[in-house]
Amino acid sequence: MADSHIEKLAALTEEIVACRMCTRLVDWREKIGKEKRASYKDWDYWAKPVPSFGDPDAPLVLLGLAPAAHGGNRTGRVFTGDPSASFLTAAMHEAGLANQPTSEHRDDGLILNGVYIGAAVRCVPPGDKPTPEEQRTCLPYLVKELKTLPNLKVILALGHIAFRATLQTLSDMAQERVRGKFLHGEVYRFGPELPMMIASYHPSPRNTNTGVLSMEALVKVLKQAKELSLS
Ligand code: SF4
Repeated sequence: MADSHIEKLAALTEEIVACRMCTRLVDWREKIGKEKRASYKDWDYWAKPVPSFGDPDAPLVLLGLAPAAHGGNRTGRVFTGDPSASFLTAAMHEAGLANQPTSEHRDDGLILNGVYIGAAVRCVPPGDKPTPEEQRTCLPYLVKELKTLPNLKVILALGHIAFRATLQTLSDMAQERVRGKFLHGEVYRFGPELPMMIASYHPSPRNTNTGVLSMEALVKVLKQAKELSLS
């Protein structure tokens, strides 16, 4: 059936959004949702696992770390409503991967062009640091999801945790361990049966405000990922 992958992704999204497997993260996401940031006091926080977003027929996947406390955990859409989202979406727009340069809320009209965005961990972790066990617990969702995307050619891993999650997912797909060392802008090829991977620094304020990742460098790596995904 032509749209069976879309149905599978919808069922998987439902399963993810209902997940309560990591008790520490469930408590944290709900605590943030109740306490809120003063500037968002009128918001009804999402406070659940944040599903992926974008084009299910995309050849390119962008993978982040986890939702931000007052970004994805508030808005319910990955890379939406926080400084990392603003930086990434502006860069995606510049690279021709998004119809607009902003990502503010779920109904803001953002459409991704040939891109699907997910995260290694679906619930906001305290201090943006999921434990190794939480990463392992969430990984099967990513494996299932990436196996379901029919046209996947390139995964752009944003940051070290997404990079490791991608290697683990590709190892699962290959049924053998695949390895790589993180290097911004590096392209990793693992043979004709597996998607390629590119590494990038994460567009977090920690990186973008300190010069580790400039807008120019992010646009460059996004364009590189786009070209590879369309080749
Ligand atoms: S991080 Fe993943 S596995 Fe853990 S509760 Fe959230 S969705 Fe479930």
